[in-house]
Amino acid sequence: MAEIKLVNLSKRFGKVRAVDDLSYTFPDGQVTCLLGPSGCGKTTLLRLIGGLETITDGTIYFGDQEVSSISTSNRNIGMVFQYPVVYKGLSTEKNIALPLKNEKKLSKDEIKERVDEAIALLSLEKYRHMEASKLSGVLRQQISVAREVARRPDIILFDEPLTNLDANSKTHFKLAFKKLTQKLKQTIVYVTHDQTEAMTFADHISLMKDGKIVQYNEPRELYNHPSSSFGGWFLGNPGMNFFTPSVEKTADGFSVSSPILPEPIRLEKDKDVSESMSLGIRPEHIRVVPDNSNGALKVSLSHKWIAIGGQYLLTAQIGDNIFKVKVKPEMGQSIDGEFYCEFPSEKIFMYDAQGAKI
Ligand code: ATP
Repeated sequence: MAEIKLVNLSKRFGKVRAVDDLSYTFPDGQVTCLLGPSGCGKTTLLRLIGGLETITDGTIYFGDQEVSSISTSNRNIGMVFQYPVVYKGLSTEKNIALPLKNEKKLSKDEIKERVDEAIALLSLEKYRHMEASKLSGVLRQQISVAREVARRPDIILFDEPLTNLDANSKTHFKLAFKKLTQKLKQTIVYVTHDQTEAMTFADHISLMKDGKIVQYNEPRELYNHPSSSFGGWFLGNPGMNFFTPSVEKTADGFSVSSPILPEPIRLEKDKDVSESMSLGIRPEHIRVVPDNSNGALKVSLSHKWIAIGGQYLLTAQIGDNIFKVKVKPEMGQSIDGEFYCEFPSEKIFMYDAQGAKI
């Protein structure tokens, strides 16, 4: 059992709350990506789990065992960092076997079996006998991973292992990593600020902001139902559009209206509603249509450019609101000046003044 349980965990550097009173459980045997913008506390949290950083407050458990004050070497974890850790003068297989040789209880046959397994899992067969100095950065990183896998720890922690790889190497590594995690039973925590990586690898994503985990979900669910305006903004390329509605007080609550809503929405009194609440919709969920027969809104184009995959990204304006729309190439080419947009109401999210979903 190797779930990772954090109880009221905090880490402060002077006045900076890098990890802020976190209570949270990373499930056993799953890949959880810690995702969030630079400085939100991902690496500090990983280092606390790994025992590389001292805790200011709180407790960490691996399964039933409290590990808060146990040294890194006694936590039975593997770690992979941004830079591959390999001995350049040693072959792939010797690099993988090295830490196993220090484990006295393993026989030669057991070491060989583990090395063979790790080499197969990371698709390193072709490079088995080659010196690491002759291998590319991505293969060296795969060796770093294979070495941790061969040790068979309960938990493996990854700290942005793709940061220093070029785009092609990233793709290569992602394929190897995905194949690996489908077979591994270890609990994996993977830090990244790259949402594509998180979406590709994770069973669950923990979205971090200001030292806290603000949402924890399966990748699709997190993307489709962001529980905060931060989640809507951070996930997506580009993220969610936000519209400021008009808010009127009524006898029993509020009435929220906006050109993008088919009709005003009534909210009860207890909601945290003010002019700073927002309506969010993703650029890919706004539909460009030929005319306003279905109540579509006339909007004006400010800018258009081609996004990855040949899609067009349009910047458009309605009143004071500027927003983005993603459309297919054939449609994007023909749009100019003014055009019509539909805003499907089931794709519109309401967020209160604090950014929490209403
Ligand atoms: P990045 O993606 O840029 O690495 P991150 O989400 O991993 O960011 P952390 O590196 O954990 O964030 O940093 C969280 C906060 O703690 C930041 O404000 C950072 O400046 C601060 N911090 C991290 N390590 C230290 C340290 N050793 N001393 C002082 N402040 C630190």
